Amino acid sequence: MKKDTAIVSIFVFSIFSFQQFLHVSSSSLLYANQVYKESSGESNLKQEQEHAPEVRCSRERSRAASKVIDEYLTPFVEKENYQLSRKCRLHPENDMFRDQEEHKIYIDRYEWRCGYCKKSFREEKFIDQHFDNRHYNLLNLSDDKCLADLCGALHCDAVMNSKSSRNKCNPAAAARNRHLCESLADSCFPVSEGPSASRLHELFLHQFCDAHTCSGKHKPFSRGGKDQGGFFRLAVGALILVLLPVFYLFLYLVQSDMNGRTQELRRISKAGWKSKPS
Ligand SMILES: [Zn+2]
Repeated sequence: MKKDTAIVSIFVFSIFSFQQFLHVSSSSLLYANQVYKESSGESNLKQEQEHAPEVRCSRERSRAASKVIDEYLTPFVEKENYQLSRKCRLHPENDMFRDQEEHKIYIDRYEWRCGYCKKSFREEKFIDQHFDNRHYNLLNLSDDKCLADLCGALHCDAVMNSKSSRNKCNPAAAARNRHLCESLADSCFPVSEGPSASRLHELFLHQFCDAHTCSGKHKPFSRGGKDQGGFFRLAVGALILVLLPVFYLFLYLVQSDMNGRTQELRRISKAGWKSKPS
C-alpha cells in the first residue's frame, strides 16, 4: 500500500514538475521570441531611417510650382471665391511636400527650424535633407501628388532663374507642355460648372498656356499676379509721400504771397488817405 502511494506521489510530482518545466520553457521561449521581435523591429526602424525611400519628385521644383500657383493663380481663384476640387492636380492637398513645407519655420537668414522636432539648421538645404532623412514617413507618396511634374505647364523655370528657360525652344516640348496646361485648365476649371469656372478657365489659358509656343509672342503670367498688385500699391504710397510736402510748400508760398499783397494794398490805401485832405 505504502509502495503504491509512493509510486502515485512520484508520478504526480513528476507530472507537476514536467508541467512547470513546460511552462518555464514556453514562457522563456515567448520572452526570447519577444526580444527577437523587438530587436528586429528596432533594427528595421534604424534601417528605414538610414535608407529613406527614394522619392522621384523634386522638392525644389515642387516648391517653385507651389510659388507659381500662389502668386499667379490663387489671387484670381480667391477673387472668384472658387473652390478647387480635389481632382484638380493644383489643389494644395495634391502636393506631397506641402505638410513638410508648412512645418519649415523661418527664423532668420541663418536659422531654419523643423516644426516637427524643433531642431535648428543654418541653411534651407540642410532642413530639406533633414525632412528627407527623418520625416519621410510624413510624405504623401500616393500617385499624382508630385507638383514638380506640372512644372512644364506652369513655367517653373521663370521663377527659379534657371538657365533652361533661356535654352532654344523645342517645338515638341512646347506642344507637350501646352497639352498638359490645357488639360489642367479643363480638369480644374470645367466650363460646365458655371460663369466663375469659365472665367478662370479662360484666365488659366492666357496666364499659363498661351506662352507654350516657340513664336515668342506670348509671355507667361500675362495677367499679372500677387506681387504686381503689391508693387503698384507701394509705388502709389511712395508718390503720395513725395507729393504731399510739395503740395504744402505750394500752399505756404501762395499764402505768403497773398499776405504780402494785402500788406502792400494797405500801405497804398493809407498813403491815399494821407494825400487826400490837402
Ligand atoms: Zn525634425
